[in-house]
Amino acid sequence: MTRRRLGLLAAGLVLAALGGGALRGGIAPPEHRETLYVFGTLVEIVIHGRPQAEAARATADVAHLLETLHRDWHAWRPGEITALNAAIAAGRPAQVDARTAAVLRRGRELSCAAGGLFEPAIGALVGLWGFHQDAPPEGGPPDPAAVAALVAARPRMTDLRIEPLPEGGARVTAASRAPQLDFGGFAKGAALALAAEALRADGVEDAVLNAGGDVTVLGRGGSGPGAGRPWRVAIRDPFAWGAVASVEMRPGESLYTSGNYERFFEAAGVRFAHIIDPRTGRPAAEIASSTVLDTDAARADAAATALSVAGPEAWAQVAADMGVEAAMLIDGRGRVFATPAMMARMTPAGEGWPGPVAVVPLPPAATPVCPAP
Ligand code: ADP
Ligand code: MG
Repeated sequence: MTRRRLGLLAAGLVLAALGGGALRGGIAPPEHRETLYVFGTLVEIVIHGRPQAEAARATADVAHLLETLHRDWHAWRPGEITALNAAIAAGRPAQVDARTAAVLRRGRELSCAAGGLFEPAIGALVGLWGFHQDAPPEGGPPDPAAVAALVAARPRMTDLRIEPLPEGGARVTAASRAPQLDFGGFAKGAALALAAEALRADGVEDAVLNAGGDVTVLGRGGSGPGAGRPWRVAIRDPFAWGAVASVEMRPGESLYTSGNYERFFEAAGVRFAHIIDPRTGRPAAEIASSTVLDTDAARADAAATALSVAGPEAWAQVAADMGVEAAMLIDGRGRVFATPAMMARMTPAGEGWPGPVAVVPLPPAATPVCPAP
């Protein structure tokens, strides 16, 4: 495949607010922008239609929330999750706060719906492959025997018991010592969903939260009087700097992409990226990027990861099982697969698709038997 370059959306690659330029009577509409560094990425918060002071206060609330979640949920820096992981490994119960308990339940439900392809309990495998550090891992793949041993231990979210405590929070026990939590596959989505709630509670009706191209929108987009021109979000080309398509967002929607092009290492010419197939314990190899458009940010994030693992044959069944309607995948050869709902929402970018496009209708969902919340 040729390397493709694209000027059109490159400047606003992740996000181009169509309404951003609207002016009325020469007065710039109120717009407040701030960028934070959390969850290993830059998170841009854009608030429209609120007075500066209020928008600044709402942004500060969100910044505080996201920084707290980042600390609490970190997969390898000491915090609530590493403490929980240590307890599980030692066969002890642990206590978590109410917010973390809710995310654990959500993770368990999403993992079950994804047939275990999204599996936040595989932290030990993610660590073994060297992804529990900020820098890309160096050296080759881990010892296959060590990988096989972790796979054989079957770490699963469905092995967690999460019992609410009268004073709030929950007591977590695990049926085995294998689960090691790593929220990396859906932390951004879960956190941005909470951030969107916090913004609404602060009276913000129109805003965008953009975590390095993973985007959650509130409201109709645009700005100031006469607002309502939708936010347009670009989907990155996994093979070159640029976009393959863009999507006009509707109120409350999230667009999340998982890819093999950001966190990976190469050994002997083979790319090993950070999405691990829990069945093999090895990085998922076939999908270059997977994008989900959904009204639920945590599900969008989790599903983007799960569909990458599922690959070109099984992804549509997994999407259906997770309740996702709009998804698009690009495999390593540039072949594009999309659901009809996603196809209808995407505008291809200037240079078009990187390969042939297959529109794949969703099969009927299987109903997995998941443990009670
Ligand atoms: P990104 O963080 O680039 O948006 P993802 O949402 O796909 O990408 O998250 C990838 C992260 O999820 C990995 O770094 C790891 O922490 C975790 N992870 C890897 N494989 C899985 C999996 N099969 N299920 C759940 N989480 C996973
Ligand atoms: Mg994800």
